[in-house]
Amino acid sequence: MKLTDQQWRERLSDEQYRVTRLKGTEAPYTGTLLHHQASGTYVCCCCHQPLFLSSDKFDSGCGWPAFSASLPGQVKYLKDLSHGMVRIEILCSHCDAHLGHVFNDGPAPTGQRYCVNSVSMVFSEQQLASIIEQTQVSPE
Ligand SMILES: [Zn+2]
Repeated sequence: MKLTDQQWRERLSDEQYRVTRLKGTEAPYTGTLLHHQASGTYVCCCCHQPLFLSSDKFDSGCGWPAFSASLPGQVKYLKDLSHGMVRIEILCSHCDAHLGHVFNDGPAPTGQRYCVNSVSMVFSEQQLASIIEQTQVSPE
Protein backbone atom coordinates (compact mmCIF):
# COMPACT_ATOMS: atom_id res chain seq x y z
CA MET A 1 0.00 0.00 0.00
CA LYS A 2 1.60 3.23 -1.19
CA LEU A 3 0.19 6.67 -0.53
CA THR A 4 1.83 10.02 -1.12
CA ASP A 5 3.08 12.07 1.77
CA GLN A 6 0.14 14.42 1.28
CA GLN A 7 -2.39 11.57 1.40
CA TRP A 8 -0.93 10.28 4.66
CA ARG A 9 -1.10 13.77 6.15
CA GLU A 10 -4.79 13.98 5.27
CA ARG A 11 -5.59 10.54 6.68
CA LEU A 12 -3.68 10.70 9.95
CA SER A 13 -3.59 12.93 13.01
CA ASP A 14 -0.47 15.08 13.39
CA GLU A 15 0.91 12.74 16.04
CA GLN A 16 0.12 9.59 14.03
CA TYR A 17 1.81 11.13 11.01
CA ARG A 18 4.88 12.19 13.00
CA VAL A 19 5.38 8.74 14.55
CA THR A 20 4.45 6.39 11.71
CA ARG A 21 5.65 8.27 8.65
CA LEU A 22 8.55 10.29 10.12
CA LYS A 23 9.72 7.54 12.51
CA GLY A 24 8.96 9.57 15.62
CA THR A 25 8.50 8.33 19.17
CA GLU A 26 5.66 9.26 21.49
CA ALA A 27 6.64 10.41 24.97
CA PRO A 28 6.89 7.47 27.42
CA TYR A 29 3.94 6.80 29.74
CA THR A 30 1.62 8.96 27.61
CA GLY A 31 0.18 6.43 25.15
CA THR A 32 -3.52 5.63 25.37
CA LEU A 33 -2.91 1.88 24.89
CA LEU A 34 -0.16 1.52 27.50
CA HIS A 35 -2.39 0.00 30.19
CA HIS A 36 -5.08 -1.20 27.83
CA GLN A 37 -6.06 -4.75 28.80
CA ALA A 38 -9.17 -5.68 26.82
CA SER A 39 -9.16 -8.82 24.74
CA GLY A 40 -8.79 -8.22 21.01
CA THR A 41 -6.43 -7.30 18.20
CA TYR A 42 -4.11 -4.34 17.71
CA VAL A 43 -4.11 -3.11 14.12
CA CYS A 44 -1.99 -0.58 12.20
CA CYS A 45 -3.38 2.97 12.49
CA CYS A 46 -2.50 3.65 8.85
CA CYS A 47 -3.84 0.60 6.98
CA HIS A 48 -5.62 -1.46 9.70
CA GLN A 49 -3.52 -4.56 9.11
CA PRO A 50 -3.61 -6.74 12.29
CA LEU A 51 -0.24 -6.58 14.05
CA PHE A 52 -0.45 -7.85 17.63
CA LEU A 53 -2.80 -9.84 19.87
CA SER A 54 -3.91 -8.74 23.32
CA SER A 55 -2.84 -12.18 24.62
CA ASP A 56 0.80 -11.31 23.79
CA LYS A 57 0.70 -7.91 25.52
CA PHE A 58 2.58 -7.51 28.79
CA ASP A 59 3.63 -4.74 31.15
CA SER A 60 7.32 -4.17 30.48
CA GLY A 61 7.58 -1.05 32.64
CA CYS A 62 9.35 0.77 29.79
CA GLY A 63 6.60 3.34 29.20
CA TRP A 64 5.28 1.98 25.91
CA PRO A 65 2.91 -0.90 25.11
CA ALA A 66 4.93 -4.13 24.85
CA PHE A 67 4.22 -7.46 23.19
CA SER A 68 6.14 -10.72 23.41
CA ALA A 69 5.30 -11.62 19.80
CA SER A 70 3.87 -10.13 16.61
CA LEU A 71 1.47 -11.82 14.23
CA PRO A 72 3.52 -13.81 11.69
CA GLY A 73 4.34 -11.90 8.51
CA GLN A 74 2.60 -8.71 9.62
CA VAL A 75 5.70 -6.89 10.85
CA LYS A 76 8.89 -6.02 8.96
CA TYR A 77 12.32 -5.68 10.57
CA LEU A 78 14.98 -3.14 9.73
CA LYS A 79 18.35 -2.47 11.31
CA ASP A 80 18.31 1.03 12.83
CA LEU A 81 21.66 2.70 13.53
CA SER A 82 20.27 6.09 14.59
CA HIS A 83 21.02 7.79 17.92
CA GLY A 84 24.33 5.92 18.25
CA MET A 85 22.58 2.61 18.97
CA VAL A 86 22.06 -0.62 17.08
CA ARG A 87 18.38 -1.41 17.26
CA ILE A 88 15.87 -3.37 15.23
CA GLU A 89 13.11 -1.14 13.95
CA ILE A 90 9.67 -2.68 13.41
CA LEU A 91 7.33 -1.54 10.65
CA CYS A 92 3.93 -2.58 9.35
CA SER A 93 4.63 -5.01 6.49
CA HIS A 94 1.71 -3.65 4.48
CA CYS A 95 2.23 0.13 4.56
CA ASP A 96 5.70 0.59 6.13
CA ALA A 97 4.35 2.52 9.13
CA HIS A 98 7.01 2.90 11.81
CA LEU A 99 5.77 1.04 14.90
CA GLY A 100 8.70 1.02 17.32
CA HIS A 101 11.58 -1.36 18.05
CA VAL A 102 12.04 -4.98 19.12
CA PHE A 103 14.50 -6.02 21.84
CA ASN A 104 15.81 -9.38 23.11
CA ASP A 105 14.93 -8.86 26.77
CA GLY A 106 11.31 -9.99 26.73
CA PRO A 107 9.65 -12.78 28.72
CA ALA A 108 9.87 -16.50 27.91
CA PRO A 109 9.21 -18.34 25.68
CA THR A 110 9.94 -15.84 22.88
CA GLY A 111 12.39 -13.63 24.79
CA GLN A 112 11.20 -10.77 22.60
CA ARG A 113 9.94 -7.37 23.64
CA TYR A 114 8.14 -5.50 20.89
CA CYS A 115 8.10 -1.92 22.13
CA VAL A 116 5.36 -0.14 20.20
CA ASN A 117 4.06 3.42 20.11
CA SER A 118 0.39 3.52 21.16
CA VAL A 119 -0.36 6.07 18.49
CA SER A 120 0.75 3.76 15.67
CA MET A 121 -1.93 1.21 16.60
CA VAL A 122 -5.70 1.08 16.90
CA PHE A 123 -7.32 -1.45 19.21
CA SER A 124 -10.11 -3.61 17.84
CA GLU A 125 -12.33 -5.72 20.09
CA GLN A 126 -12.78 -8.12 17.24
CA GLN A 127 -10.80 -11.33 17.30
CA LEU A 128 -8.25 -11.90 14.59
CA ALA A 129 -10.25 -14.53 12.67
CA SER A 130 -13.19 -12.19 12.08
CA ILE A 131 -10.91 -9.33 11.01
CA ILE A 132 -9.23 -11.59 8.45
CA GLU A 133 -12.60 -12.73 7.18
CA GLN A 134 -13.69 -9.13 6.60
CA THR A 135 -10.42 -8.18 4.96
CA GLN A 136 -10.78 -10.98 2.44
CA VAL A 137 -14.22 -9.86 1.28
CA SER A 138 -13.31 -6.18 1.17
CA PRO A 139 -12.66 -4.77 -2.32
CA GLU A 140 -9.38 -3.14 -1.24
ZN1 LIG B 1 0.04 -0.46 8.05
